[in-house]
Amino acid sequence: MRDVEELIQRSKPFLSYLLRWRQNLQPVALSALVQDSQSPDQVALMAVDVINGFCHTGPLASLRVAGIVAPIVLLFQNAYALGVRHFIFLHDAHDPQAVEFDSYPAHCVRGSEESAPVPELKALPFFDKVVTMIPKNSVNAAVGTALNDWLDAHPEVRTFIVVGDCTDICVYMLAMHLRTRANAANRTVRVIVPANAVDTYDLPVEAASQTGALPHDGELLHLIFLYHMRLNGIEVVAAIE
Ligand SMILES: [Zn+2]
Repeated sequence: MRDVEELIQRSKPFLSYLLRWRQNLQPVALSALVQDSQSPDQVALMAVDVINGFCHTGPLASLRVAGIVAPIVLLFQNAYALGVRHFIFLHDAHDPQAVEFDSYPAHCVRGSEESAPVPELKALPFFDKVVTMIPKNSVNAAVGTALNDWLDAHPEVRTFIVVGDCTDICVYMLAMHLRTRANAANRTVRVIVPANAVDTYDLPVEAASQTGALPHDGELLHLIFLYHMRLNGIEVVAAIE
């Protein structure tokens, strides 16, 4: 296939399906999730890269991604109020010479302001008390990090709520890791992604060509990766309220 019109024409039914699927997603109540889990101890809220470097400042910060901060803060508050105490905060804390900087501009070096949680989350009175921080040096939060040790130490957790950014990069890899790790062990767990609390950045082709960066269609990739998670047994919901 060489012609973009042909590609669009061919994919139109699927894209229409995707849009309808996204529009028909329903919200779920956090209280129902906690009740279904029998105990709040069986629920973990996993937030990935909800840090300044993607939300507020630096070369990879974007307004689109900043839009997820408010729903994530609300979810932290509601979860805490319902007795959830497993809050896992996975975040870029790169080596100054990170190999990843061959793919993305230098960002979120460990110890920097970019690498720190957004102030909206830091301001939560319980944040420093209950949140487990897990630094990472790649887009895969499960490689070379303390994540799997934490999962091994908390077999009681059966419901994982995944929020953060970017939908098609770290969120996707984290949710897929949790899903496939459980599948491989034949463990029944739920991995749930609220669509209003994940997003990705947008870099149009023209803007990208001016800087030599690779373009990235935020709207299309967000949608396709949400669907791809659903395809793999991750529960994608409109919101967790
Ligand atoms: Zn990074």
